[in-house]
Amino acid sequence: MTFAETKHLDEQYIMPTYGRFGLCLTEGKGCRVKDAEGKTYLDFTAGIGVNSLGWCDDEWAAAVCKQAGLLQHTSNLFYTQPGALLAKKLCERTGMDKVFFANSGAEANEGAIKAARKYSRKKYGKDRSTILSITNSFHGRTMAALSATGQTELQKDFDPMVPGFRHIPAGDATALATALGPDVCALMIEPIQGEGGVLPFDKEYMEMIESVCRPRDILIIADEIQTGVGRTGHFLASSLYGLHPDIVTLAKGLGSGLPIGAVLFRDTCSDSLGKGEHGTTFGMNPICCAGANVVMDRLDEAFLEDVAEKGQWFHKQLAALPSVTQVSGAGLMWGLSFAPPITAASVREEAQNRGLLCLLAKSRLRLLPPLIISKEELKEGLSILQTVLEKLS
Ligand SMILES: *Cc1c(COP(=O)(O)O)cnc(C)c1O
Repeated sequence: MTFAETKHLDEQYIMPTYGRFGLCLTEGKGCRVKDAEGKTYLDFTAGIGVNSLGWCDDEWAAAVCKQAGLLQHTSNLFYTQPGALLAKKLCERTGMDKVFFANSGAEANEGAIKAARKYSRKKYGKDRSTILSITNSFHGRTMAALSATGQTELQKDFDPMVPGFRHIPAGDATALATALGPDVCALMIEPIQGEGGVLPFDKEYMEMIESVCRPRDILIIADEIQTGVGRTGHFLASSLYGLHPDIVTLAKGLGSGLPIGAVLFRDTCSDSLGKGEHGTTFGMNPICCAGANVVMDRLDEAFLEDVAEKGQWFHKQLAALPSVTQVSGAGLMWGLSFAPPITAASVREEAQNRGLLCLLAKSRLRLLPPLIISKEELKEGLSILQTVLEKLS
């Protein structure tokens, strides 16, 4: 099929919830991906931080294909090996106690929200169900995750939101103290706001969150759906701040391209959900878990150090590009702002024309390359960005 034919079918039959970039991708390897017209692109998107091992990693593809030929799905009524192994690896890596497997980020957050409410209800009764989250946050598109999301423009046509969510402005100690009423059971936070523009927090603010939530037994839920699984050069970005969440949600990078989400529980709250209290038909899918097991095996300490080291170098290079006014993020997750009249959208489009795929986050350019990217490939992308910025300025 040509690009035009695919685009036509897509526009005729698919609900237009996404404004797609004008490309049909057909195959990829490593950090390069081809479109339907045979043009190759260097990839700084990783499918929005999903393809952590790049496109079609050999070991990952072999494990996934092998599992697809052995056992594709059993339901959660049976024990299966890939999920049990993956849960062990996730707990050992993070110091958490138990895992619940979901199929996406939003679903992982739904599980976290239910668990936090259940934990609090068992211990304190029913009037302690409010979840605080941060203005400009993104926690997903399902109704409770959307209610937790701190962006009114995403909620406005879908009222009523689920009750029991309150948003507080980032970095504001007074607002945090005021919001911590007797009705609050948990605080949900992305260590770096991803969709919101790749915005980290001050370490002091994170320390304050821990110091005010802990004595009140308010659970800290770290939404690490975008920041987790090595993206920032740490397995969890909570480590960047010394934050010790009670619940961590993962998704995007965990399966390196297969739909999987996970909710990780510290031992303090790992018995909050019991039999029949939560579930999902597709959760702990053996094929997705087989892919995620390869990701977990590859992301050893040396791999993460390499991500951190490449990231520090990349940060310096990005900050030195012409017309770049601000760079924020960590590891291989960066957001860039530009001096007017240059817009992130124009940079993204012009970079794509020159063979480099980038993302946007609100008004910023967002870069989430595969974690396996080499310095040579980063350099190549930087040089395209340099050309684009010189042209646009
Ligand atoms: C992407 C994302 C989600 C939602 O994940 P889906 O898999 O799209 O449901 C939730 N939280 C954060 C921080 C995300 O980046």
